[in-house]
Amino acid sequence: MSIKVSNISKQYGQQKALDQVSFSIKPGEIVGLLGPNGAGKSTMMKIITCFIPPTAGDVSVCGFDIREQSLEVRQKVGYLPENNPLYTDMYIREYLEFVAGVHKLGKNTAKRVDEMMEVTGLMPERKKKIGALSKGYRQRVGLAQAMIHNPEVLILDEPTSGLDPNQLVEIRNLIIEIGKEKTVMLSTHIMQEVEAMCSRAIIINSGKIVADDSTGHLLNSNENTEQIAVEFDKDVKPSMLKGLPGVVNVKKISGNSWLIEAGKDHDVRQDIFRFAVENSFTVLSMQKQGNRLEDVFQQLTRK
Ligand code: ADP
Ligand code: MG
Repeated sequence: MSIKVSNISKQYGQQKALDQVSFSIKPGEIVGLLGPNGAGKSTMMKIITCFIPPTAGDVSVCGFDIREQSLEVRQKVGYLPENNPLYTDMYIREYLEFVAGVHKLGKNTAKRVDEMMEVTGLMPERKKKIGALSKGYRQRVGLAQAMIHNPEVLILDEPTSGLDPNQLVEIRNLIIEIGKEKTVMLSTHIMQEVEAMCSRAIIINSGKIVADDSTGHLLNSNENTEQIAVEFDKDVKPSMLKGLPGVVNVKKISGNSWLIEAGKDHDVRQDIFRFAVENSFTVLSMQKQGNRLEDVFQQLTRK
């Protein structure tokens, strides 16, 4: 396992930030750690990267224990902290050389810094001080410093927060590219991020895991019902739709369009057609609606 978290709890004074959290991440996975603000995401990431100790429980990274073998863990892990703290007065290369020094890269430093600037697309901005860079380019510097020592595992805390839509797409694509070679765990409170980048999502709420599944599975298997959007040619009484077999809810979308929620064990679309024919309505359109990860997330983290 690249990351193995066993029964981790973290207490800040009275505040319980993590409560018996366990999960494992296999080499090569891109996993989204998802949860509302205050869920415990950053705390989990600081523990995995040896920045703070847990109150209880164990974590190993590539087989190394965070308590007993923290030097080895730091070699295996690259970390982009929340808010990406950087030395704004340094030039990009100067900063990356500094970080390379911390990792004792020695004579490989210059080559490695060049490689990282290439991979993260920093070359066009290489003459600027970090303070003069846009947020998107600062994130690239943050990713470059996280990868400079070629770690197997990357821990990225809200890597896309505060980016404009173009920067967002660029950084997402960069992470997807990086993820082909590394194990990546990234945190976000934005569901589309996970749909766009991750094969798996771990959802936490108030310090506890509420779901841990593939994104595809989370989107399809969470509910016992499905939703069908139907448009008729005339106004239909909702009570008539509610009377159809298996229907549990009927909502008006607009005009003569309705969202019909029905049990998954029975395909209600045939009944809708029959209903329309028997009552001289025409079905103008009918479409199954997939669950959105956002809805799943809201159901799981609602209190
Ligand atoms: P997230 O990253 O998911 O927003 P955090 O891990 O930052 O959540 O925080 C989890 C909880 O722990 C929050 O309630 C937060 O206020 C609390 N917390 C985080 N850091 C500290 C700290 N240093 N001292 C006290 N409470 C903290
Ligand atoms: Mg956080």
